Amino acid sequence: MQTHQNNELFQTGYLVDGIWKTLDSTFDVVNPATGEVIASVAKAGREQTEEAIAAAAKAFPGWRAQTAKARSAILYRWYTLIIEHKRELARLMTREQGKPLKESEGEVEYAASFIQWFAEEAKRANGEIIPPVKPGSRILATREPIGVVAAITPWNFPMAMLTRKLGPALAAGCTGVIKPANNTPLSAFALLTLAKRAGVPDGVLNAVAGNTAEISEAIMASPVVRKISFTGSTSVGKTLVRNAAETLKKVSMELGGNAPYIVFDDADIDAAVAGAVANKFRNAGQVCVSVNRFYIHEAIYDTFTHRLAEAVAALKVGNGMDDGVTVGPLINAAALEKVREHVEDAVAKGAKVLTGGAPHALGGNFWQPTVLGDCSDGMKLAGEETFGPVAACFRFTSEEEVITRANNTPYGLAAYFYTQNLQRLFRVSAAIESGMVGINECAVSTELGPFGGVKESGLGREGSVLGLEEYLQVKTLHIGGL
Ligand code: NAD
Repeated sequence: MQTHQNNELFQTGYLVDGIWKTLDSTFDVVNPATGEVIASVAKAGREQTEEAIAAAAKAFPGWRAQTAKARSAILYRWYTLIIEHKRELARLMTREQGKPLKESEGEVEYAASFIQWFAEEAKRANGEIIPPVKPGSRILATREPIGVVAAITPWNFPMAMLTRKLGPALAAGCTGVIKPANNTPLSAFALLTLAKRAGVPDGVLNAVAGNTAEISEAIMASPVVRKISFTGSTSVGKTLVRNAAETLKKVSMELGGNAPYIVFDDADIDAAVAGAVANKFRNAGQVCVSVNRFYIHEAIYDTFTHRLAEAVAALKVGNGMDDGVTVGPLINAAALEKVREHVEDAVAKGAKVLTGGAPHALGGNFWQPTVLGDCSDGMKLAGEETFGPVAACFRFTSEEEVITRANNTPYGLAAYFYTQNLQRLFRVSAAIESGMVGINECAVSTELGPFGGVKESGLGREGSVLGLEEYLQVKTLHIGGL
């Protein structure tokens, strides 16, 4: 096993009160490109989670008492340190997550942007002065940190999904416990090491990974944890919302999607093809806002699918550490099996393979970038997230029909459409049931814009001016006798 014991960013313990602790029981973190075990990480469970919650609770009064400006300065230092360590962090991420190094570097910058943004927003947790109802009185609505927060994050964006939560949580004055995905704890732990270096006091951020069921139970049972912020699958999200009811924790849920991508006959086809490739094959398709269903107008269907297949066939698959690689491996064998199941089901039901369609010659977790034509709504890949490098193309005839089909899903995270017609742009934007809509644009994630879903894709928003609100609660002061 290759280890990096001398590298402070490479942590394999669990973090409580500023100290990385070890355990006899460990779990392996595996490089999805090579199968190599990168690290054995302390397998934390109930006891360690309770320790972590207690540390967060102890640190809360001190952290909330700091001025917003002081917290802002610490966050800003953390942002600077993340950027300074961009290369090192990106290499670590590619090794445990698999995405091409360039994408990892992009994610480090994107992750850092939330810390920078909320360093700024920390100073704007303003309250209100409300006109009094009686003479000689005042009503003030103040905003306070909600308390101890638990942040549970997925493996597909192991740094950005975490900073989207920790930026606003720390800015608001909250403390917390983080539970990164067991496939990718190292990226998260590296960020926490830099947080400490930036001046985040011990106990403000604590971290556990390992026995997910025990960790989850300890978090959900604790009356001390007042908020749970989760990014992951809809099924786990629903369980957490149900469990949060016991102690009535505030919840933020960033869940799965089933994004449609509609290309109308008046679209700029070159832009639509370029957008399709960029969106669908980033992170090997393992993105919550990744397109699941490409709806192409019948008049341009052949042109679009031909050009898309040509562009996709030119993508380079391989180990994300290697130069020029644009598509890395899937996270594990189960992910590959899901892609295989969806592709085989589609082909059995009449889909045509336009490129790819099978595991890659590299073996392991590598799947060929795939374009499927003639897809229909009854196929598995139309109803469930494929979470792989598969572009499924469907034909449509009318605007009305395609909107109905696009909305025919319990999800509503992201949607995309391409058109040059202004009236259509506003009509379709209004009719689409989705938290985010890309219009002649394939990217919908930035710290400046609210990120989140409708329907079964989630509750709450991350980033933007709305992100801080999720970690605050209002206290109304009625002051008399003035
Ligand atoms: P997942 O739901 O399996 O796991 C997410 C996290 O929850 C991990 O840390 C996991 O260990 C933990 N977890 C699993 N079961 C749990 C339980 N019962 N209680 C508490 N925690 C539990 O999801 P995943 O496979 O890691 O991630 C992929 C999913 O995440 C996809 O559905 C994707 O669309 C979604 N996602 C959503 C967003 C968004 O912002 N909306 C962003 C990224 C990923």
